[in-house]
Amino acid sequence: MATIEHNLHEVRRRIASACAAAARPEQSVTLLVVGKTFPAADLRAAFDAGARCFGENYVAEALDKISALADLRERIEWHLIGPLQANKTRAVAEHFDWVHAVDRLKIAQRLSEQRPAHLPPLQLCLQVNISGEPSKSGLTVDEVPDVARAVAALPRVRLRGLMAIPAPAADVAAQREPHARLRELLMQLQRQGLALDTLSMGMTGDLEAAIAEGSTLVRVGTAIFGAR
Ligand SMILES: *Cc1c(COP(=O)(O)O)cnc(C)c1O
Repeated sequence: MATIEHNLHEVRRRIASACAAAARPEQSVTLLVVGKTFPAADLRAAFDAGARCFGENYVAEALDKISALADLRERIEWHLIGPLQANKTRAVAEHFDWVHAVDRLKIAQRLSEQRPAHLPPLQLCLQVNISGEPSKSGLTVDEVPDVARAVAALPRVRLRGLMAIPAPAADVAAQREPHARLRELLMQLQRQGLALDTLSMGMTGDLEAAIAEGSTLVRVGTAIFGAR
């Protein structure tokens, strides 16, 4: 079996076994295949092996791949998971389905204004600096409720939930802590009346911990395509 197909099966097996351990249905976790630095041909191989949701970090690189895979556009969901600068929002509003790393109201406002009328609303997550690392992007936990309410009120975007990249931790118990905090924050927003359903958390190194704490979408690159 080709490597990418084999790796994809292995990641699906990890997700299935983490779901079983958490008594959660396997379909409650979406696998987002993260292709940054890998060529469109590798993404096509992943598509052929059943992948349908693709995550990219860099806007220019992603636009090249979206155009290289234009024949699959109707069957692929494209997710921007990297940081987004204000001067790149138009291209993102026009070409992506999801944006995970929204960390300012202004970015969401621009995406809403620039989302073409013929497309469905752009699906958004707010990025939270859940480990409180000074050098990392993302909203602080305290900032999230006000920004979430404001983003949820915008017309051409739909706020779906929260995303985080927790600081690396040595063992699963330590990995679970920040994921649990993100889940609690999502539940707090739900109690305040926001209809949110997405916890974008978990990568190659911590997807079991993330699924144990309620992740609904894991973003996996290395385990599928290899080291970058
Ligand atoms: C690169 C990246 C991933 C994938 O990480 P792996 O460890 O390669 O699985 C997930 N999320 C974000 C935001 C990334 O930048």
